Amino acid sequence: ADMYGASRKNSAGVELGYDESLTALQAEIAAASAKPFPAATALIDGKPEGKSPRPVLSPIDGKPIGTVAEADEALAERAMLAAKAGFIAWSRTPARTRAAALRKAADLMEERRGLLLALLQAEAGKTLDDAISELRETVDFCRYYAAEAEAHFATPQVLPGPTGEENRLVLRGRGPFLCIAPWNFPLAIFTGQVAAALVAGNSVVAKPAPQTPLIATVAVRILHEAGVPVTALQLAPGGGDVGGRLVAHPAVAGVAFTGSTATARHINRTLAAKDGPIVPLIAETGGLNAMIVDATALPEQVSDDVVTSAFRSAGQRCSALRLLVVQEDVADKVLEMITGAAKELKLGDPRQIDVHVGPVIDAPAKQRLDAHVAAMRKLGRLEWAGTEPALGGTYVAPHIVRLDKIGDLAQEHFGPILHVVRWKAGELDKVIDQIDSTGYGLTLGVHSRIETTVARVAERLSAGNVYVNRNIIGAVVGVQPFGGHGLSGTGPKAGGPHYLARFATEQTVTVNT
Ligand code: GLU
Repeated sequence: ADMYGASRKNSAGVELGYDESLTALQAEIAAASAKPFPAATALIDGKPEGKSPRPVLSPIDGKPIGTVAEADEALAERAMLAAKAGFIAWSRTPARTRAAALRKAADLMEERRGLLLALLQAEAGKTLDDAISELRETVDFCRYYAAEAEAHFATPQVLPGPTGEENRLVLRGRGPFLCIAPWNFPLAIFTGQVAAALVAGNSVVAKPAPQTPLIATVAVRILHEAGVPVTALQLAPGGGDVGGRLVAHPAVAGVAFTGSTATARHINRTLAAKDGPIVPLIAETGGLNAMIVDATALPEQVSDDVVTSAFRSAGQRCSALRLLVVQEDVADKVLEMITGAAKELKLGDPRQIDVHVGPVIDAPAKQRLDAHVAAMRKLGRLEWAGTEPALGGTYVAPHIVRLDKIGDLAQEHFGPILHVVRWKAGELDKVIDQIDSTGYGLTLGVHSRIETTVARVAERLSAGNVYVNRNIIGAVVGVQPFGGHGLSGTGPKAGGPHYLARFATEQTVTVNT
């Protein structure tokens, strides 16, 4: 059932340059798009529920592509109570059985790639390239966490002790886990959180982002079909009212959240203010991701990696490059190459195979980005502006903004806007300090041929993912565990060896024999 070849650890994707496999893939996407997409609903013990349906709009052209019946606060309450009841049987299900369900879900997702890719494009505005990467990451998460659970949850770890005593360490689920996912990876991050929580032995209430409920409903149904009991996985789509009610619920045993730093703080405060157990939060938030380029860097490579990191996925990755910090001596040349390469990017309907940059997620996102660009223009800081396609969707062209100093970038702008600061030879330590003082620590790029510079930057800056002489996006499951610290999140890293343990409780059993 493994379309990518069973011997690989990570799923291998599709070679887009190879005509036959591309044609087959496009036919599957077209077939899935020819039918109406399955409606999104709340799912309580597997039963569709929810308020009267509202349309889900595509960022590509603003047209409806389906409907969602969202939860309200009463339904959120029921979802949490259902998960509380479902926890008992699921937590006692052997870890190997739980892992098998994840593997089965991965296989089903590969089989149904047409529908999933069609949804990633229509609902989230992804290019085919990005959609394929996201499906691969999703499948990888399921298989990776399955393997991790088999290794660490299936059998107790035997610990040393004196003669006449046996010691075992057991990892088990905590209870009903709340998983709150973002719209920018509506399949990979949504499924990754849920899969990790489930395989660790928790039941789950999943709340997808209000922009992307269609693909979340499909993912939950696939997990159910793959063997996750409907009582163990509840779906409560909705906005902040639903999320707020779920976070505040006394039954919540843990929260996994990916989204803004401000929302993570809000969740943390709500959890802290509750009576009852201390509830852990796993938060993955934003970044003011920088790339430091010195005079020894290869300009062609820098240009390629900057354009990929800042503008691909329309800049809507938390890993995306926000701030290019380039040594003055090479700045003009590097910037000329970057602008040249950026001009070649094709913006538009991401379902067309030659399009590199699709829309941003919705009208409020576009308004925020447009406002930032307008403010920068007014200050005379606009270095370069791309051209927005007139397609009716929420498109934002790539922009390059000049800043005097790193501190001028006060917040994350979640779109295709690159900020550039120049530094003088001898100022590297100052640059490092300024990046550090933003308080974020997600991704960091370094382009330099000087080993001591690379080592100094990596050692002094504590970003979660440091990329040397390459782009800074697209962390691979099990290869580049992903996540940051400080204002960027709590850790542990998704797709890394310490992730599952944070979803679990540990029990030490000591037996006097
Ligand atoms: N893991 C993704 C990457 O490395 C980013 C995830 C996110 O945007 O939250 O590009």
